[in-house]
Amino acid sequence: MTTITLALSKGRIFDETLPLLAAAGIEVLEDPEKSRKLILATNQPDVRVVLVRATDVPTYVQYGGADLGVTGLDTLIEHGNHGLYQPLDLGIAKCRVSVAVRDDFDYASAVRQGARLRVATKYVAIAREFFAAKGVHVDMIKLYGSMELAPLTGLADAIVDLVSTGNTLKANHLVEVERIMDISSRLVVNQASLKLKQAPIRRLIDAFAQASKA
Ligand code: AMP
Repeated sequence: MTTITLALSKGRIFDETLPLLAAAGIEVLEDPEKSRKLILATNQPDVRVVLVRATDVPTYVQYGGADLGVTGLDTLIEHGNHGLYQPLDLGIAKCRVSVAVRDDFDYASAVRQGARLRVATKYVAIAREFFAAKGVHVDMIKLYGSMELAPLTGLADAIVDLVSTGNTLKANHLVEVERIMDISSRLVVNQASLKLKQAPIRRLIDAFAQASKA
């Protein structure tokens, strides 16, 4: 029996992938919020789900630790493409990558005056590319979480982070000053898996495509 392994991260991506799996006749048999298991069985004996950190999904799929995965475009860009096959925009876990500053920081005039900006972010590749294209000089500070705190503590002038409703920014007296790009989650596939397990993977891709269009 050929086993198909799908890498997902807990939270929004897991939750929003469940209906797509259901459309493919696949039901995950355990709730990751209740179980501590990292490998979850499904009602299909040949399909299993592995739970990994969001930023590790592209790595698992790249090296064949998983045949497929669901990952945000933000994570994919930061990881680099590295030969991952990307057949589908699933249209789930939508948000945007934006630049935000303290509500009392005059971003427009700092940019106009050619000031050097200190930018804190987890999304270094996206931020670097964006500010380079704008001709703005930046000192990049890599963070792994709670970017919102950086401008409040004087660590940075600006952050580049994911924004969905904008509530997190508002609660921390930050304002969105640039929208860099729209984000949604993508299906990524290991290229060797696609060749070696073509029929079951194609079936999954087709079912996901149908369900995400609906
Ligand atoms: P919000 O308050 O709705 O604007 O959400 C912003 C917070 O949720 C930030 O801390 C983001 O890092 C996180 N966030 C928003 N959308 C996503 C997403 N699609 N995937 C992962 N994290 C997200």
